[in-house]
Amino acid sequence: MRIKTKLTYGIGMLFAMIVLLGILSLSYINKLNNETHKIYTNNNYSLDYCRNMLSVLDELNTSKRALQVFTSNLQMQQKNLTEVNEKETTYKLTVHFEKHRIKKDQQSLREIRSDIYTIMTLNMASIYHKSEVAKQTAMNALLWICLTFAVCIVFALAILFRFPHSILKPIRELINGITEIANHNYDKRLNFEPTSEFGEVSTSFNKMAERLNEYRASTLADIIANKKYIEAIVNSITEPIIGLDNEKKILFINDEALNILNLKRENIIRKSAAELALKNDLLRRLVRELVNPEEKKEPLKIYADNKESYFQANYIPIRVIETGETEPHNIGDVILLKNITEFKELDTAKTTFLSTISHELKTPISAIMMSLQLLEDKRIGALNEEQESLSHSIKENSERLLSITGELLKLTQVETGKLQLMPKITKPIELIEYAIKATRMQAEKFGCHIEVEYPEKIAKLFVDSEKIAWVLTNLLSNAIHYSKENSRIIIGAQQTGDVVEMFVQDFGKGIDPRYHESIFDRYFRVPGTKVQGSGLGLSISKDFIEAQNGTLTVESEVGKGSKFIIRFNVK
Ligand code: ADP
Repeated sequence: MRIKTKLTYGIGMLFAMIVLLGILSLSYINKLNNETHKIYTNNNYSLDYCRNMLSVLDELNTSKRALQVFTSNLQMQQKNLTEVNEKETTYKLTVHFEKHRIKKDQQSLREIRSDIYTIMTLNMASIYHKSEVAKQTAMNALLWICLTFAVCIVFALAILFRFPHSILKPIRELINGITEIANHNYDKRLNFEPTSEFGEVSTSFNKMAERLNEYRASTLADIIANKKYIEAIVNSITEPIIGLDNEKKILFINDEALNILNLKRENIIRKSAAELALKNDLLRRLVRELVNPEEKKEPLKIYADNKESYFQANYIPIRVIETGETEPHNIGDVILLKNITEFKELDTAKTTFLSTISHELKTPISAIMMSLQLLEDKRIGALNEEQESLSHSIKENSERLLSITGELLKLTQVETGKLQLMPKITKPIELIEYAIKATRMQAEKFGCHIEVEYPEKIAKLFVDSEKIAWVLTNLLSNAIHYSKENSRIIIGAQQTGDVVEMFVQDFGKGIDPRYHESIFDRYFRVPGTKVQGSGLGLSISKDFIEAQNGTLTVESEVGKGSKFIIRFNVK
């Protein structure tokens, strides 16, 4: 039966019992009331009339008022004839009263008194009888009301105990079923009456359990197959790969990674990488770089299989969207080691080649420059206008070649780690003046006005002045090249606390913020740059500054100009 029907029946029955009890009580109260009322009107009144008549009976012949009282009470008694023989006796009393009024004798008085006593006796008997009846009625009322009350109580108790139980029973069974499913007992089924409210729930529950059963049977085999498949993929990757969970425990690792780490699979799976790293330098470095992503990541040099190899580590976070969620969250990381030995070798070959070529080129270019100088010497002979312009062009190109070979040589120094620093105490103004002097010709050619901003007091620097001067010259040369003709350029220095800044600011075309980082990369040139160049100046400058623990940054806005700032901590 549905809970709703049970509720309706239960409460309906209780309500009916209460109504029945009410009706029963009311009808008995009414009946008792009628009976007492009847005693009062039928008999008590007659007794009162009789008592009044008796009280004035002896004065009938002497008092007028007594006669009046008697007459009026007799008349009222004549109207209140309710008992058997009362009418006849009252009639007799009337006749005897009339007789006494005429004769006024003692005989008639006795007869009157006897009649009154008879009427009183009749009424007294009736009162006794009616009280007996009322008593009986009260007893019946008490019995029936008690009986009905008892039935009500029994019924209410039955509802009170049975009803919550009948509601809770299916809910308990449902909770029990859900717990079983949560404990992976997918054979659990519910058997509620199909017509009850829980009928639909049990059908859906059974369907769900059935599907989960099928799902378990199919997924277990799938999971094992997929796991093997993934393991095979991981092992077939030729680059070393390591998978870690959020607690940095090793989830998977391929043979390549085991080989370079010199570890055995069975000793490390599900083990904490941090603990294993205590005995393994390479793993220690990988874990440290994974935990501190901001740390500079140099390629790893590894000796494996009797040869030197270089690896670049990539740290890839594993992000998944869990079922029922919308945002992905981290469940671990993959460390992928890319073998860059071949590139490294090619790079070394390139650097050696560049170094040789630029070194070899320097001597013939210097010779060309020397010859040009001689050619321009008036003592050898004057050149005509065309020859002069040709010689000027050869000079310009030779200077460019010399500067490029210079840059390439410096680059090879940086790349081969042969950068030699010779620091000495230097005033920033000396470096600025050197740069201005070195670019004077260019500045004059483009009509640029170079302004110097220099404070009265500034700390000295302990740097390789030749390299810093080269950087400032390069920055100033760029500022001249990338500004319009006749524009203003500011070169200067300032000190804020322990930091000394040297800057070169122009009001030229500026640099799009997208390229603020890339301009410091090797051979990078902002797309669309028309001025000729190698794309090496800024990258070498940055290396020179960073090699001396300084920084080189740019602040620039397209159309407004650029400001390159070198910072050194002088503390
Ligand atoms: P190069 O000037 O030889 O091309 P750099 O490394 O000195 O190489 O500069 C890289 C690129 O940065 C340049 O090609 C140019 O596009 C941009 N750049 C450098 N300095 C400035 C500047 N002051 N104003 C605008 N662009 C600049």
